[in-house]
Amino acid sequence: MNPVYQKVQKVLIPSEILRGHHLCGSTKNHLVLQEGHYHSYGYEDNHLPEMEYKQVTTTCPYCGTGCSLNLVVTDNVISGTAPHYRSPVNEGKLCPKGTYSWQFINSRDRLKKPLIRKGDVFIESDYADAYALIAEQFRYYRPDEIAVLSSARCTNEENYIMGKFARGVLRTRHIDHCARLCHSSTIAGLSMCFGNGAMTNSIPDITESGCIFCLGSNTFEQHPLVGRRIIQAQKKGATFIYADPRYTPTARQADLSIQFYSGGDVALLNCMMGEIIRNEWTDADFIRDHTRDYENLRKVVLQRRYLPENVRKTTGVPAEQLKAAAQLYSTAKTATILYSMGVTQHTVGVDNVKSVANLAMLTGNIGKPGSGVNALRGQNNVQGACDMGCLPNVFPGYQKVTDGRVHKFFSDSWGFPGPISDPRPGYEITTMFRLLLDRPWEIKCMYLMGENPLVSEPDLNSVEDAIQNLEFLVVQDIFFTETCRYADVVLPAACYAEKNGTQTNTERRVQRIRKAQEPPGEAKPDWQIICELADIMGYGDQFPYQSEEEIFQEISSTVPQYAGITWNQTGQPGGVQWPCPERGHPGTPILYTDRFETPDGRGIFHAVEYKAPHEMPDESYPFLFTTGRIIWHWQTGTMTRRSKNLTDEVNEAYIELNADDAREMGIREGEIVRITSRRGELTCPARVVKNIMKGVTFMPFHFAECAANRLTSDAYDPVAKIPEYKVCAVRVERIRGD
Ligand code: SF4
Repeated sequence: MNPVYQKVQKVLIPSEILRGHHLCGSTKNHLVLQEGHYHSYGYEDNHLPEMEYKQVTTTCPYCGTGCSLNLVVTDNVISGTAPHYRSPVNEGKLCPKGTYSWQFINSRDRLKKPLIRKGDVFIESDYADAYALIAEQFRYYRPDEIAVLSSARCTNEENYIMGKFARGVLRTRHIDHCARLCHSSTIAGLSMCFGNGAMTNSIPDITESGCIFCLGSNTFEQHPLVGRRIIQAQKKGATFIYADPRYTPTARQADLSIQFYSGGDVALLNCMMGEIIRNEWTDADFIRDHTRDYENLRKVVLQRRYLPENVRKTTGVPAEQLKAAAQLYSTAKTATILYSMGVTQHTVGVDNVKSVANLAMLTGNIGKPGSGVNALRGQNNVQGACDMGCLPNVFPGYQKVTDGRVHKFFSDSWGFPGPISDPRPGYEITTMFRLLLDRPWEIKCMYLMGENPLVSEPDLNSVEDAIQNLEFLVVQDIFFTETCRYADVVLPAACYAEKNGTQTNTERRVQRIRKAQEPPGEAKPDWQIICELADIMGYGDQFPYQSEEEIFQEISSTVPQYAGITWNQTGQPGGVQWPCPERGHPGTPILYTDRFETPDGRGIFHAVEYKAPHEMPDESYPFLFTTGRIIWHWQTGTMTRRSKNLTDEVNEAYIELNADDAREMGIREGEIVRITSRRGELTCPARVVKNIMKGVTFMPFHFAECAANRLTSDAYDPVAKIPEYKVCAVRVERIRGD
């Protein structure tokens, strides 16, 4: 068995979770008193006399599940984590990443002072000089020559301030962030079908479901505390269907596990819908009363090409499994769909999302407990960064930049003396980097907060060339990342545990993060840096904030979904779920209970046809290459690779090869192999596994020194502009000669 999975099982075996063993480490002897009004609980001794330690309740900085945890502070320094039992999201449990989310905070290599490039080296500087240089350069470029990348790792307040700075001070329309790379197809696809791009139901609501259909999400490794809810639902009798190109740890828990070729989602879903219609398992009343354009869908999915026997050729899935999945999902009392980047990161990502929405509407599984279309968002605050308008086509609250009234509203309420960014949609991240390569005269200057595109972008070799075409680059981060190497100025930011604010998890839950220690050296919260920069550039009046709470109050006045949310509410266990339209509103755990958010209140079916991925295996590159995360690490590894307990588990890249393929090539477990795509080449150890289909390979993308994105393709979805990280073609070769 693959050693990684043995370890995963050891930590995450379902029975351990259900028995209530919290997964949080380093708690014994660490607690005396909780901060503020929080009570001390769950420990044998709550009566130690000294305030030698304190606990600060906050929200995990990693995935979009948004688990609450307590940071343990000893002599004003964070020294561990402890459970926070009152969160309805995680009820005191944490996965390994959350448990060790304190270990990177006081790493010696945290950025502590501003750095300014002098030739090939960086010189430590002060804010006065750094701001003066940045302000001079920002004033020099025309608005359309400047691009801004905001951050799903930062708070709502910081993203809001960055959007305001970009559109009001720099007057650029080119602002985006990493949602482009993970769930932009969800926002686009679900908005077209339902009128809104967010997760429809809640994490605790999963336990109400009679059937859970999980597609393209290794939930137990990527959103483990969502995975816990799947197990709880199964204990109550729910059926769990799992469909993914890999037989992951999540698959092991499934009642029906389907392995299919990456990119076959539309064929698989159309096939299931055809079966459901032919067998009259649809919810005819729901279709009649709450949807439109059903006939278009019906015509498409009933074509011969989507019969189970024919879809087998496209997806590799036996017909019987496709029929069983259709029946189990559509005949359950309620059924929910969970999906993630396996669905979204394709050139047909938007089509995939529309198909998921079609399936839910066809069976009436929307707008009620235990149902829904639930996109599991990646980063801790990727939902919030989108809500705050850090996208090139919308202001905060998804209000369109092209709408004249919206444009005037923000122009007036932000109070800039001159015009703000022009009302055309700006460029997406993927477009920015392509333009930097193809038409470098268009974008010349970039301001980047908490993003590391030199590991996260597809086709990295091209991105490396592209970023060197920038004339001026500012990077604001907590560590000197791979991207900082190309910066002209680097600004040191506070991390999640050194500032206050709110973040919004995947289920639209707005929750608080709290400051537990001072930032190192001269590092500051991102919002404070941006406000100081705005002041230097002559816009102090528009950025007068003294606290995160003041920024949040402005958010409530401009973002309709947050209009009723108070700062105090966000600090309660579990926060509040938007939409929360007026003060006193309890928040909204389930969307569309009465109507969809489309103009006529009806959900819209979108008939979509299967299209093959952009680059499929061929004679020269015979293997399908797919990428993803592992439980021990997060995204570009900037934080998790500085956490000892996580790096002790895995700290180097590898490629998973199907055991039969490996045998045919004479490749042994652990042997170093060369992997080549049309864009680059890597060498790393092989892991010979049975959990992927023949002809398929998998590589985690956390390891900058052997970055999977040197191989991936920058082909993207034409609507969402999300890259096709999940499919490209590679060649795998032995290196040794024997
Ligand atoms: Fe953090 Fe996500 Fe793990 Fe919860 S499931 S502890 S939010 S990484």
